[in-house]
Amino acid sequence: MKQFELTVHSPEETKAVARRLGERLQPGMVIALEGDLGAGKTTFTKGIAEGLGIVQNVNSPTFTIIKQYDGRLPLYHMDVYRLEDEWEDLGFDEYFNGDGVAVVEWAHLIAGQLPEERLTVSLFRHGGDERRLVFEPSGWRYEQLCKEIFAS
Ligand code: ADP
Ligand code: MG
Repeated sequence: MKQFELTVHSPEETKAVARRLGERLQPGMVIALEGDLGAGKTTFTKGIAEGLGIVQNVNSPTFTIIKQYDGRLPLYHMDVYRLEDEWEDLGFDEYFNGDGVAVVEWAHLIAGQLPEERLTVSLFRHGGDERRLVFEPSGWRYEQLCKEIFAS
């Protein structure tokens, strides 16, 4: 599978990359975010929200699991870290097939419920504020998206 990588050096840079992604997202798209606590998943989501034209402050939905924001498209921001099991049904299907964009932190914890076609973005800490971002598209729409983002 083709993957796209880059190194960033600040939270602002992470957000800027995510903003470029957010500007190009289409209804029904799903972004799976992976990375340890503090890797920058929520920071990345804030950038996506900016790209979607969301003006509200996006913060971690750890306790609520799912939060919705309204911009150019609705953003469904999920953090499934606290789910009891992979198959717990919080209506994910409707979010994944809805009119908005779903961003899922710790997505592998609900692996069985994720759509096959999605964009997985993994964030790795490299000490200090440096992060390695790895984009793995699954499906042509997401491959196209990555090509656009990495071309600009
Ligand atoms: P997660 O959601 O993965 O637990 P957060 O985005 O909530 O992570 O937190 C990441 C923390 O790391 C924030 O305090 C952020 O300011 C800091 N940080 C430092 N450098 C970066 C970077 N390059 N990208 C993202 N966050 C960074
Ligand atoms: Mg988070």
